[in-house]
Amino acid sequence: MGARIRPIAQVVNVEMIDEVLRAEALATKGFMPPDEGDALYAAACSACKILPQLPIVEVGTYCGRSTVWLGAAARKYNTIVFSVDHHFGSEENQKGWEWFDESLIDPATNRLNTLPSLLATLHRANIGDVVVPVVGESKVVSAQWSEKLAMCFIDGGHGDEPARNDYLGWSPKIALHGFLAIHDVFTDPKDGGQAPYKYIYCAAIDSGEFIEVDMTGSLRILQRIK
Ligand code: SAH
Ligand code: MG
Repeated sequence: MGARIRPIAQVVNVEMIDEVLRAEALATKGFMPPDEGDALYAAACSACKILPQLPIVEVGTYCGRSTVWLGAAARKYNTIVFSVDHHFGSEENQKGWEWFDESLIDPATNRLNTLPSLLATLHRANIGDVVVPVVGESKVVSAQWSEKLAMCFIDGGHGDEPARNDYLGWSPKIALHGFLAIHDVFTDPKDGGQAPYKYIYCAAIDSGEFIEVDMTGSLRILQRIK
């Protein structure tokens, strides 16, 4: 599973999110850089054009930052985003870790809870009608999921096991010519954790079922070819 160099086919047409919604995305807590959010939006628009009416699944909602870009694409193409998260945060979001945010602690449980922030984001961005929050463990949800997807965006747990589970659970749901978008893909360990690269990106390419069609920062867009 070494780094690979291959030509990137340009199937992702560049469409730009509405400025007001972009401002809402940027005002939302989270981890999606602006240029990668714009690329995610463009990919979602392409996927919706290729596979009209099929929904989008996002794994890893947090407070809904990337969700705003996806919701904007869903609104434009008359489809729905299901955004999956247990809302307890990943390992790196917990107390004592690099990405801990004290303000997201629920005083009732003394535990992280990003669901209230997500609901506030959906309200503020006015996308509550096109985004359906799915509150649960990704593996449990994917096991029950039967509808084909135009696109699946994986940005959930970044450990080896959650990354593997997300690939195994969600990639079979992507329709032919649909997109698998993966965040935090780092080919070099000095840039970040390797699980999304190894267990999602490389697994998808090595399966022969996906080709890479776009790349912006750590965001990779793959397309199902068989
Ligand atoms: N896409 C977000 C960032 C997601 S952070 C943004 O743009 O800001 C990763 C999220 O994945 C966290 O909110 C965490 O709760 C969720 N997560 C991690 N492992 C999960 C699992 N196994 N099932 C469901 N959600 C999970
Ligand atoms: Mg991420």
